[in-house]
Amino acid sequence: MKIKTKLTFGVGSLFLMIFLLAALSGWYVNRLKKDTANILTANYNTLLYAKNMLLALEEIPVEKTAFTSFEVNLDKQRKNVTEVGEQQTTNAIAKHFLQLKDKPLDVTVVSSIRKDIALLMEQNMTAISRKSILADHTAEHAILVISFAGALCFIIAFILLVNLPSNIADPIARLTASIRQIAGLNYKERIDLQSSGEFTELAASFNSMAEKLEEYAESKLEKILKEKKRIESLVDNMRDPVIGFDEDRRVIFVNEEALRITNLHKDQLLGRSALAVSEENDLARDIFKDLFVPAANREKNAIKIYADDRESYFEKDVIDINVLQTGELEPKLIGQVVILKNITPFKELDLAKTNFIGTVSHEFKTPIAAIQMGVQLLENEQIGPLNTEQLTLLNGIKDDSSRLLQITGELLNMTQVESGSIQINLHATEIQPIIEYAVMANQFAANQKNIHFAIEIAPTVKSIIADNEKTAWVLTNFLSNAVRYSYEDSVIHIAVENIGLKTRFIVKDNGQGIEAKYLEKIFARYFRVPGSKKGGTGLGLSISKEFIEAQGGEIGVESDYGAGSSFYFSLRSVASNEK
Ligand code: ADP
Repeated sequence: MKIKTKLTFGVGSLFLMIFLLAALSGWYVNRLKKDTANILTANYNTLLYAKNMLLALEEIPVEKTAFTSFEVNLDKQRKNVTEVGEQQTTNAIAKHFLQLKDKPLDVTVVSSIRKDIALLMEQNMTAISRKSILADHTAEHAILVISFAGALCFIIAFILLVNLPSNIADPIARLTASIRQIAGLNYKERIDLQSSGEFTELAASFNSMAEKLEEYAESKLEKILKEKKRIESLVDNMRDPVIGFDEDRRVIFVNEEALRITNLHKDQLLGRSALAVSEENDLARDIFKDLFVPAANREKNAIKIYADDRESYFEKDVIDINVLQTGELEPKLIGQVVILKNITPFKELDLAKTNFIGTVSHEFKTPIAAIQMGVQLLENEQIGPLNTEQLTLLNGIKDDSSRLLQITGELLNMTQVESGSIQINLHATEIQPIIEYAVMANQFAANQKNIHFAIEIAPTVKSIIADNEKTAWVLTNFLSNAVRYSYEDSVIHIAVENIGLKTRFIVKDNGQGIEAKYLEKIFARYFRVPGSKKGGTGLGLSISKEFIEAQGGEIGVESDYGAGSSFYFSLRSVASNEK
């Protein structure tokens, strides 16, 4: 049965019961009222008239008005005849009263009238008693019927009270509980509300929804599991070692390759924090240390690991996994992945290349020196005079051979830097000889372009802690670049000044300058600004950087494109107590 029907029926029947009860009570009360009214009008009035007639009879014939009073009451009685036999009694009274009018002193007529009136009274008193019994019956009947109807009302109301609220509230409570189960991802939840009208339909809809959700969740779970397996086997089959971490830096996956090179067991890594593993294992510490460093500050140094029965090199890449979650504005870090790229073959090739360049440059030095010696002998004209054309050719050979020597020198330095075998001899060094050496080395080239060097050494400048050979090399390189990229008839400023505990060397030219976009790259190996003069190797500044940084100094450049450049390096000054 529908809830609406149930409610209508329940409340409706209660309403009907109340109405019935009220109608029944009203009807009975009305009946009782009628009964008593009947006694009053029909019998009580007769008794009153009879009493008045008796009183009037007592005063006849003494009182003249007694006849009139008797007659008035007799008339009233005539109109109030209600009982069986009352008419005859009233007629008898009237007949005897007429006789009394003729013979007022006749005692027998008075006695007859008295008897008639007594009979009339008796007839009415009997009627009162009968009617009173009847009223009693009516009252009893009314009590019985009303009690019965009341009890019926009470029973129906009680049944409704017990059943109706629970009939509506129970299915709602069950539905609420089931919805909570679904919200808690228990899609197996079903409800059975067979006998509850509309709730049966609601339950059917709910069950079909839960079924669909269950199907969807199962298919989604299956899909996710498949994807997970796919990704796991993908990671496992990767040639590069891969280790994944969650947001708390706990290892959540590691592939076979990573286990192999770290020589660790899965149990030693999976589920454990990077910190805990680092404490136990030096290699792990080296690999994991970048997890704790912000992305911008991570070093890109290769890690040396003894794997595959030889020294292997791995480039470490730490990737932060940031995800923008639904409804959020900022991406959140949900984990990190460390990928180690095996660069051993490249390292080996690089080493072979460095060795090759080193050997070739070394081998070149002897023949170049021989060429230069031959040129010198020819210049001295010991083996005969040279004509002008021969002298021009000889100068060309001299220039080329010294350039060749410079290039081989740079290449040799580079091989030294690359193989990590720079020998730095730091000691207190005078500044003046370094500047003189660099100026002298570039004087010839400067003279050819009519370029002058303006040297300015601040009076506070003292000695520096440096490897004087390497430092002189760097300054020479700065000056040779300045000369090469300056216009003719210009001045190159060499300044030395104190900045805090350091001494800064500045070489400032008024040449073409360098575009801002190249300033960052200029110290990179083999980099040359596009369109630069031919003849350079792009190695000078990178070697300079290595030489200065190996001494604990800093190197840099400032340039105003079109107006000149200012190259500088700083090294530690000798403190007054170190002298
Ligand atoms: P190289 O001079 O052999 O090309 P360097 O490493 O010494 O190599 O210099 C790299 C590049 O920097 C040069 O090719 C040149 O384009 C630019 N450069 C260096 N010094 C200057 C300078 N003083 N003025 C303008 N450009 C310069």
